[in-house]
Amino acid sequence: MGGWAIAVHGGAGVDPNLPLERQEQAKVLLTRCLNIGISALRSSLPAIDVVELVVRELESDPLFNSGRGSALTEKGTVEMEASIMDGHGRRCGAVSGVTTVKSPVSLARLVMEKSPHSYLAFSGAEEFARRQGVEMVDNEYFITEENVGMLQLAKEANTILFDYRIPTVGFDKCSAVVENPLQMNGLPISVYAPETVGCVVVDGEGRCAAATSTGGLMNKMSGRIGDSPLIGAGTYACEVCGVSCTGEGEAIIRGTLAREVAAVMEYKGLGLQDSVDYVVKERLDQGKAGLIAVSRNGEVAYGFNCIGMFRGCATQDGFMEVGIWE
Ligand code: ASP
Repeated sequence: MGGWAIAVHGGAGVDPNLPLERQEQAKVLLTRCLNIGISALRSSLPAIDVVELVVRELESDPLFNSGRGSALTEKGTVEMEASIMDGHGRRCGAVSGVTTVKSPVSLARLVMEKSPHSYLAFSGAEEFARRQGVEMVDNEYFITEENVGMLQLAKEANTILFDYRIPTVGFDKCSAVVENPLQMNGLPISVYAPETVGCVVVDGEGRCAAATSTGGLMNKMSGRIGDSPLIGAGTYACEVCGVSCTGEGEAIIRGTLAREVAAVMEYKGLGLQDSVDYVVKERLDQGKAGLIAVSRNGEVAYGFNCIGMFRGCATQDGFMEVGIWE
């Protein structure tokens, strides 16, 4: 057993011209979340508790696209989704279309533990949340002024914005832009930098867990479901590893990315980083996404094929880093 390890992400893509101040804010937040996870692991909390704790913290901060600060639908509302999986026993829970639940990841955990199901959505998920007595807030709580402005831009450009902070002109500076015209399932999009959040943990007992939470894509259709709540696509954990993905949900779903990492480890016998590299190369369309992963042996790995990914990791032997670019 290689000790505990933790990784967090705050979305793949990233505006190449992202102001330094914003980059610093992201790094500070990622570091704060890593430290929360590290203390929890030092107190011997199980992996499943740690991923929930860390993602809850990210959801409460408006910087990334989850909980408060979530991307807006075409109607200007917020429809959030999240999932969580405990590799120990392969238990999972997920929610979509959540509009008033303060912490979607905790609701996903309740679906896992307090319902006979693994996935609840829209009015049924909200009703379940009320019955469970979780903290609920007005939809406005999640909406930031900045995101309202970005939705306006997205509408003017008639685009589903990936990085809603990048103006739709001048993005050819971004070397990660590979398609021309940029399209997603036949619809126009801008460049890549959704800022979904996720956390993967292996605890001192070798138990892996993963959680992912998001508002989805700016200007998405109401009712759209991405990869983040889909077990096997955006999130997966089993006996061998835990994985959380971020990027263009439609591409991640096509590649069943998170499960593929585990499958490559299980069936091909590759190590964690090799499996991540293999899946990013073989199963993911160029420029689309990234992922973080831990293995039961206490290894941590990440991979992405877009310009950057907000991320951080730490291991029991004292290693810790946060980064954005390659
Ligand atoms: N994967 C998310 C989605 O498509 C977006 C993200 O990662 O930021 O909803």
